Amino acid sequence: MKVIKNRGMHLISKRIHIVIDPTTISSANDADLILISHAHVDHIKNVEKINPLKIMSRPTFDLLSSNLKQNCKITNFKIIEPYSCPEDEINIQGCKISAFHAGHCLGSFQFRIKLNNKTILYTGDFCLESRFGMSKAPLLKCKNGIFITDDTYFSQEYVFPTRKTLYPKILNWFKETLEENEEIIIIAQRLGVQQEITALLNYSTLSCSLITHPSIYKANEIHSSYLPLGKFQYKSHPLENKRKIRNLTSYFNSKSGNGTYKSSNSKSVILLPYYYIRKIRELEAKYSKNSIMVATGWAKTQNFGVKSFPLSSHAGYDQILNYQKYSQAQKTFFF
Ligand SMILES: [Zn+2]
Repeated sequence: MKVIKNRGMHLISKRIHIVIDPTTISSANDADLILISHAHVDHIKNVEKINPLKIMSRPTFDLLSSNLKQNCKITNFKIIEPYSCPEDEINIQGCKISAFHAGHCLGSFQFRIKLNNKTILYTGDFCLESRFGMSKAPLLKCKNGIFITDDTYFSQEYVFPTRKTLYPKILNWFKETLEENEEIIIIAQRLGVQQEITALLNYSTLSCSLITHPSIYKANEIHSSYLPLGKFQYKSHPLENKRKIRNLTSYFNSKSGNGTYKSSNSKSVILLPYYYIRKIRELEAKYSKNSIMVATGWAKTQNFGVKSFPLSSHAGYDQILNYQKYSQAQKTFFF
C-alpha cells in the first residue's frame, strides 16, 4: 500500500484508493472513497462537487452543509458514529473504518483504517485535553502500522500551558478588562476556539452579553444543537458586513453606518473569526487597544500588538510526540 500526500492524504492499495481530507476536487474525484475528518477549509473544500462516497460525522455534515450556497447539497455520503462497539466499524471493499473523537472542533474525528492487515491511524487535527464544549481525543494504537498526524505546532516552542493554568488567567483578564471597558473583542478560530470561549464565558460568573460574528453564530448554533454552549446572540453590527466594507475605519467614521447595535447588557464581548487578525489596527481605531484579545497557539511566538493567549484547538509539540510514541507505529507521516 502506498501513502501519498497530494492535496489530501492518499492511501492506495490494489483494492481501494482512499483520500482523507482532499483539498481539491480533482484529487478527490480520483478516489473510490473519501474520509473527512472535520469541517475546516484547509481539510475539505468544495464538498458538494466531490463524487465518490464521503464518510464523515453528523456534525461535520451539518457544518459543511450550512456553508453551501442555496440549491447546493452534499450527495453520496455516509455518516459514521464514534466507535463504541465492533458494529460501528464500516466495511467498504474489505477496508474497515472506525472513527474516534479528535477533540479539535465540533464533529472532528480521527480515523482508524484496517487494510491489507495493516492499521493506519489518521489523527486529523486533534487535541488531547478536555476543553469547555468538547470531548478530548482518546489515544489509539496502531502497532507496526502507519501513523498520520498534524504538524501545525510540531516545533519545540509550541508546548502549550494546560487549560487548568490558562482558564483562570483568561477569566481574570476578562474580569479586569470588563471593569474598564464596555466592549471586548476576541479574535479566534471561528470553529473550535470560539465555541470553547462561548462556553467558558457562559459557565463563568462574569456578567456580559456575547455578540457573535454571523459565521461564529452559525457554528455556535450547530454546536449547541449537539452540546449546549449557553447564551450568545447575533446582532446587526458593522463588522459583520465584511464583504461590503473594505475599510472599517472609514465605516466607523461615517455617519451613514447602519450597523449600530445596542446590547441588553451594558458590557459586551464580541467574538470575531481569526481573519480579523489582519484588521487589528482598524479595530483599534474603534475599540480600546487594551480591550482586544487574540486566542491562538501562534501566541507562543507571535506578537500581535494586543493581549494574546495560547489557547489552541490543536495539540502542541509535546502532545504530538507523546501520541506518536504511544501509537507504536512503524512509520509516521505528517499531513
Ligand atoms: Zn482544523
